[in-house]
Amino acid sequence: MIHGELHQSVRQYINGRWETSATTGVSANPSDTSEVVAEYARAGRRQVGFAIRAAADAFPHWSHSTPQRRADVLDRIGTELLARRDELGLLLAREVGKTLPEAVAEATRAGQTFKFFAGEAMRGGGENMASLRAGVQVDVTREPVGVAGLITPWNSPLAVPATKIAPALAHGNSVVFKPAELVPACGWTLAEIISRAALPAGVFNLVMGSGREAGQALVDSPLVDAVSFTGSARNGERILQAAAARRAKVQLEMGGKNALVVLADADIDHAVDCAVQGAYFSNGQRCTASSRLIVEAAVHDVFVARLHQRLKTLKIGHALERGVDIGPLVDEERLARSLAWVEIAKEEGAEHVWGGEPLKRATAGHYMSPALFLARPEHRIAREEIFGPVACVLRAADYDEALALCNDTPSGLSAGICTNSLKHAMHFRRHAEVGMTMVNLPTAGVDFHVPFGGRKGSGYGPREQGRHAAEFYTTVKTGYMLA
Ligand code: NAD
Repeated sequence: MIHGELHQSVRQYINGRWETSATTGVSANPSDTSEVVAEYARAGRRQVGFAIRAAADAFPHWSHSTPQRRADVLDRIGTELLARRDELGLLLAREVGKTLPEAVAEATRAGQTFKFFAGEAMRGGGENMASLRAGVQVDVTREPVGVAGLITPWNSPLAVPATKIAPALAHGNSVVFKPAELVPACGWTLAEIISRAALPAGVFNLVMGSGREAGQALVDSPLVDAVSFTGSARNGERILQAAAARRAKVQLEMGGKNALVVLADADIDHAVDCAVQGAYFSNGQRCTASSRLIVEAAVHDVFVARLHQRLKTLKIGHALERGVDIGPLVDEERLARSLAWVEIAKEEGAEHVWGGEPLKRATAGHYMSPALFLARPEHRIAREEIFGPVACVLRAADYDEALALCNDTPSGLSAGICTNSLKHAMHFRRHAEVGMTMVNLPTAGVDFHVPFGGRKGSGYGPREQGRHAAEFYTTVKTGYMLA
């Protein structure tokens, strides 16, 4: 187990055994880069192949296990995650740089997700109806799909894997899980808990390694029946092409350019709260981050002034320090990218309001001040996903223009509106071209028991989470019988 400040060597979990690899990598603490969090084994194609074969061999038995058996396993995993939420939150904060309260909340969510799917394992069921032919009965049932290849990003290293692993197992699939390279300790810790939950060998496997090698091996293998990917749109597109070409089931959850609309009749202080939480908490490193703040002209200046004031008060620092609002960015590369976006915005003529500078703290980490710009719709910062603490305000003449701007993007994950008008709130819920709408709430921050996902360039395939997860992790069978 990983405790406190110690770092650990973590291995692959293949066919019920812990395996080393020929090569290794390390993850470092972004709040203090002198601290190694984990050394991890990096799987190559061959090792991933062993894991896939183990999952394929384990599938027939597991797919016929009883609902009670599956529920017990998931419940046990959920119970341990919840019991260890503080310790796991600490690990997550050390590996990703989320503040400790955010990290503990994520560990809690992962535990709750396993508990939810323990219930789902028991709820199964299907439809039963009369046939068009006399004396014939028809039923529609769901069966597991097979081997699920689960590929996850670094930004929510416990919650996103839980969102995939729990429903996959609940519905009777076997799993090969590949976490992102920046978060091996979180991936391994989750796997270690799962490894002690009385699953038959091969039902759950962990492979750590690069996307190009370990991830691609999963996508390409004819033994992997379903690929669920969360990550960037660029990699998602590649994965879709490769997996669909061999007719695997594919689910993609990708980035967004989410908008928060603020109308003139909104409670402006509350709208500022929503903007700060949505755009800047977790450094904007959330797929649901609101990097576009679309504000009605009548309140534009007052909104910008109050947001500016709030940004000045935010405390940026070590993720484990009490009272810190925002920790470091996850690594040097992401920090450099966010700082480059600040330069792009300035060069394009966006008006700089605040922030966007690298910060020095007592420990060497990837710190920067949250950046705010006033932009025009054609600016790149108003069009492309940044995945960092950089947001822009766009001025809209009225609600209609605000909605048009909100929908003027190739992505469609989450969109929010701050207003006291029921008419506009209802219209927005119906006409925002996204998978999730928020009224008087930040665009980020969602429940785990209801569907999660986006439209247009933000997603592909059935939604994740809640009862809807069955759409991806099961396949439908229609049975006819002459009674
Ligand atoms: P990424 O695309 O770089 O990597 C995601 C995962 O895919 C990693 O495990 C990576 O190793 C793997 N991968 C990369 N190339 C691959 C390939 N060719 N074949 C198979 N696997 C491959 O994304 P990231 O930087 O880790 O995460 C940030 C992105 O994730 C952002 O765009 C963000 O919006 C998105 N995201 C989306 C959601 C959502 O649910 N919509 C949630 C969190 C993050």
